[in-house]
Amino acid sequence: MRIVLVGPPGAGKGTQAAFLAKNLSIPHISTGDLFRANISQGTELGKQAKAYMDAGNLVPDEVTIGMAKDRMSQPDAVGGFLLDGFPRNVGQAEALDEMLKGEGVQLDAVLDLEVPEDEVVKRIAGRRVCRNNSAHVFHVTYSPAKAEGVCDECGGELYQRDDDSEETVRKRLEVYHTQTEPIIDYYRSQGLVVTISALGKVTDVTARAMEALQVDKAAQA
Ligand code: AMP
Repeated sequence: MRIVLVGPPGAGKGTQAAFLAKNLSIPHISTGDLFRANISQGTELGKQAKAYMDAGNLVPDEVTIGMAKDRMSQPDAVGGFLLDGFPRNVGQAEALDEMLKGEGVQLDAVLDLEVPEDEVVKRIAGRRVCRNNSAHVFHVTYSPAKAEGVCDECGGELYQRDDDSEETVRKRLEVYHTQTEPIIDYYRSQGLVVTISALGKVTDVTARAMEALQVDKAAQA
């Protein structure tokens, strides 16, 4: 399956993507994670991306589209993938369509995670992420780690992302509304969008998502 995951920052895209990719046996491709890996490795691409990310803005398409295409061309992604955080504007969605068309394949679904805005701000302000694995996500109030600052899963250090400060979150939300939300209409016109609520327990949201994707798969069969 080829799936795109969309939703505002704090909707739990990374967490859900990790579970869904595992359930569906497809790679989880997160452009945010790819940028963060480049930053921690000190690459030129990472240096270019960091200032945009810290300000809550989108990294320019010239940089992002090439990086995403490179990753989607890896052997593990030939049979399908779950995109998390890409595309993030209509230009990127068009570039993705063109790429897939060139390969004679198409998207199966666009899963839209819906969450109220006040919940988003609460979720992000308390979010702590493991340095070893960005799918290991905790929250100081909602799902605290057993030992403060230490990942329950692997013992890695938990940290607050540079772009999770309240000011940057507000900017990221504005960018989401103005630039990313239009892709939902873009994909809706292709009949690909399935919307689910991202509220509740992580396992419940995953179950909801799996069910929505099955329904969608059946509808297309
Ligand atoms: P994420 O981990 O998906 O929340 O992404 C973190 C940050 O990386 C975003 O706020 C953007 O600055 C940048 N980023 C990730 N994906 C994209 C994309 N598809 N286009 C532009 N910038 C992106």
